[in-house]
Amino acid sequence: MGRTRRNNRRLRPLSRQARRRFLDYIEGQDPDECWTWDGPMMRSDYPLFYGDGRQRSAVGVLYYLYYHKPLQLHEVIQHTCDNRSCMNPNHIYRVDRSLAGHEIQMEKVRHGVNVGEGHPQHRLTAEQVREIRRRAADPAVLQKDLAQEYGVTSTMISKIVHRKAWTHI
Ligand SMILES: [Zn+2]
Repeated sequence: MGRTRRNNRRLRPLSRQARRRFLDYIEGQDPDECWTWDGPMMRSDYPLFYGDGRQRSAVGVLYYLYYHKPLQLHEVIQHTCDNRSCMNPNHIYRVDRSLAGHEIQMEKVRHGVNVGEGHPQHRLTAEQVREIRRRAADPAVLQKDLAQEYGVTSTMISKIVHRKAWTHI
């Protein structure tokens, strides 16, 4: 076998199934809070994702999915929240490996803004959350259909229904 090209391995996008599974591992809704990773970890703070027969950095996959830009080999992902296992896409940004510490801090300030559109997992409004609970009470309505309709994962629908997410509504 020939040499593996690290570059390719990092950049290849996920299959639909892997993408769905990936999003199911992420827990969090509030755009400002840290989101957690319910999947495998290396050590205690490095989320890993096994998908399409490969193991990758879950944060790297997150970056790719939300920003639609592959990470270059000279770049690393940083967290604005300093929580290495955080999976909130608003808390990650990329920097050039060669930047010095203080420059990275400046980038962090610059990136302390929301990413806006293009999220695979949409934010829900309080109204939608009430609507989901109302509709899910009907046994004929499937959670996976609601998930598709509202653009969130089935896990999230289940949590909303069982009041493990959006508990204040
Ligand atoms: Zn965070």
